[in-house]
Amino acid sequence: MKSEQIVLASRPHGLPSSENFRVEKKDLGPLNDNEVLLKSWYISVDPYMRGRMSNAKSYAQPFQVDQPIVGSVVAKVIESRSKTFIEGDIVSGSLPWATYCIEKAENLRKVDTQAAPPSYSLGILGMPGLTAYFGMMDIGKPKAVETVVISGAAGAVGMVAGQIAKMQGSYVVGIAGSDEKCKILKEQFGFDEAINYKTAKIMTKIIAAACPKGVDVYYDNVGGEITDAVIDNLNFHSRIVLCGQISLYNNTEVPMGPRLFPKLLTRSILVQGFIVSNYSDRFGEAFAHLTQWVNEGTLKYTETIIHGFDKLPDAFLGLFSGKNQGKMLIETD
Ligand code: NDP
Repeated sequence: MKSEQIVLASRPHGLPSSENFRVEKKDLGPLNDNEVLLKSWYISVDPYMRGRMSNAKSYAQPFQVDQPIVGSVVAKVIESRSKTFIEGDIVSGSLPWATYCIEKAENLRKVDTQAAPPSYSLGILGMPGLTAYFGMMDIGKPKAVETVVISGAAGAVGMVAGQIAKMQGSYVVGIAGSDEKCKILKEQFGFDEAINYKTAKIMTKIIAAACPKGVDVYYDNVGGEITDAVIDNLNFHSRIVLCGQISLYNNTEVPMGPRLFPKLLTRSILVQGFIVSNYSDRFGEAFAHLTQWVNEGTLKYTETIIHGFDKLPDAFLGLFSGKNQGKMLIETD
């Protein structure tokens, strides 16, 4: 069996480009016991993968140059020498960016195709959904009378986090990068207000106008100047859910910004960074809630699906210019 795979050709300096990736052909050998042959179906591109392309110390191991990029994939079992899976099963796992691969059964989870479309296990019923759930419910803890602001609001995590805050009765304001995204957040996802940060002249004032009672919970997906502007509007005893900093991921130097710790101190603000895997022992609880809310229609969801395995690098790069609404995925067929 021949497979195509995409390897990291070189480590990016600043914003990655297609030059940092290379498509290669690979011969897959025969299956050993407890292994399955997989055909990739949906492949996820995620902002955290940028961190793994550098060799800086982090919570996830760096990708190796000339080795395949690895990420979340939904795949079909084509052949099995495992007692756990049979041909035709749909599984998910941390797998190479490859058209086909061989994997040990113990590293795979079966996807329940009756519960939801299989691609959802890479988004709302996968890592991004779990991230939104724990960040909002365990750290943000919004109350009905409170105002919640979410940056990166039209991405995979942000749009779920905003809806979960709405379910608590809060007043929810999203920040996103186009008028179209802002319209969708309000009309389809129930946000009370949405701010286009690309056309907003003075973000601090625009956030103040959108949040007349100040901000009680800030779910931060982007960092940088947007976050500086939200911090100006935070109330006493407010909470910052420090989830992501995508606006800084391609920086080659640590940027000098306003030093905001005095504001955090004098307003008794809680800042809590987290990685979703911190909550791995509670994934079952979150998964059950998210599945129920999706099936009831309480949680709405959207995906940007790009067709063609060879489009993976472009899809990944598109995350940094806001090409996605909701979860960005590749469908290989
Ligand atoms: P998505 O890939 O779905 O969306 C990313 C969005 O970020 C883009 O669509 C774009 O939208 C916005 N963006 C890109 N560059 C900038 C910029 N310079 N300034 C402002 N906005 C920008 O992201 P996810 O929802 O999957 O992830 C959101 C964040 O959460 C990321 O920072 C990610 O690293 C983090 N994360 C953290 C986890 C954890 O465990 N802590 C787990 C999962 C994700 P726009 O059009 O609005 O610019």
